[in-house]
Amino acid sequence: MTLSFGRNYLAIPGPSVSPERVLNAMHTSAPNIYEGGLVDMVADMIPDLKAVARTSGDVAIYIANGHGAWEGAAMNVLAPGDTALVLATGRFAALWGTICNRIGIETEVIDFGKTSGVDPARVEEALRADTERRIKAVLTVQTDTATGVLNDIAALRAAIDAAGHPALLMVDCIASLGCDTYEMDAWGADVTVAASQKGLMTPPGLGFVFLNDKAKAAQNERVSYYWDWRPRIDPEGFYQYFGGTAPTHHLLGLRAALDLIAEEGGIEAVWHRHDVLAHAAWAAFEAWGQGGPMKINIADPAERSRAVTALSLGADNGTRLRRWVEANGGLTLGIGLGMSAPGDPKGDGFFRLGHMGHINPHMMLGALGVIEAGLKALDIPHGAGALSAAAEVISKG
Ligand SMILES: *Cc1c(COP(=O)(O)O)cnc(C)c1O
Repeated sequence: MTLSFGRNYLAIPGPSVSPERVLNAMHTSAPNIYEGGLVDMVADMIPDLKAVARTSGDVAIYIANGHGAWEGAAMNVLAPGDTALVLATGRFAALWGTICNRIGIETEVIDFGKTSGVDPARVEEALRADTERRIKAVLTVQTDTATGVLNDIAALRAAIDAAGHPALLMVDCIASLGCDTYEMDAWGADVTVAASQKGLMTPPGLGFVFLNDKAKAAQNERVSYYWDWRPRIDPEGFYQYFGGTAPTHHLLGLRAALDLIAEEGGIEAVWHRHDVLAHAAWAAFEAWGQGGPMKINIADPAERSRAVTALSLGADNGTRLRRWVEANGGLTLGIGLGMSAPGDPKGDGFFRLGHMGHINPHMMLGALGVIEAGLKALDIPHGAGALSAAAEVISKG
């Protein structure tokens, strides 16, 4: 017997919950792509999109998921034979490096492990050692969605500058944009990669690459036709003349999502909501961990993302818990991605809670309540007071 009827809650780290406003905006017949409403809307939307990344630079919009935007961003500034320094803190920056390798870009990888963030001192050291200035770009994630780590982007820029190195700083904010505080211009990122389906609350299908003048000046002239960001910086011209059909309905959905962000009070209000809800989740996880095996993967709260938390629960408890809460509680949690432990090569002891985008206190407290029910049903030992600790955090706003 299951009680799991009603609306399911997909609490994985992307795709995230799409608001009705976004879905309804997409529920329309195809608009004219040559003139009128859609064309005007896109031109008006660009400043709002750039505001989310806190940049006065440019943005190129692709019909692609994050993997596409990764490849596009890399190809515009890196040519075959160029070298990128890849900062691995889990899974995603390393994968970006692999994508680069497939298009002939060499990579030098520094692996920071799976339980902490980038150490800027090691990056500075690697850049100082690059006396021939072979490294053209430093590739990092702000949030690694597998480990839940949050990297300090301003500190990375400081490390690059301290080494006196000209490399571009390229940041994957696919999981973190619209969740974790991010200041592209103030922190000195040259390129920011994002996608529609995480903090931006729109179904998968749009990839974004934000770029500043330094990135523009590094243009690889051998970039492929589709990925060339130059025509896409002017979306009106691009979609009408150079680049194929516009992603009409996704653009309508994104417009609605950006309206929601504005109505909430702007991106700072969105960051604050994510901060409080993440702290509520961590309070619960820590309370459960007091009396059992649950452990947040990233021990230092200063290095934790506000978009996703990865956890270990021992043995095969992560998978058991995921299955229980989905079957009995209408809650879908994320798998332990790329994680493993001695005796657990497939990572069944791990799971993730996505807390990105269109979420609020009742969704968070509901998810935590169902997890507690699962821990009880499965006899997984856990400490008391978790829900109360989470409610306490939320009560203080
Ligand atoms: C989701 C994600 C990606 C991959 O995005 P896709 O849209 O699935 O291709 C890359 N990097 C990070 C940090 C992500 O969270």
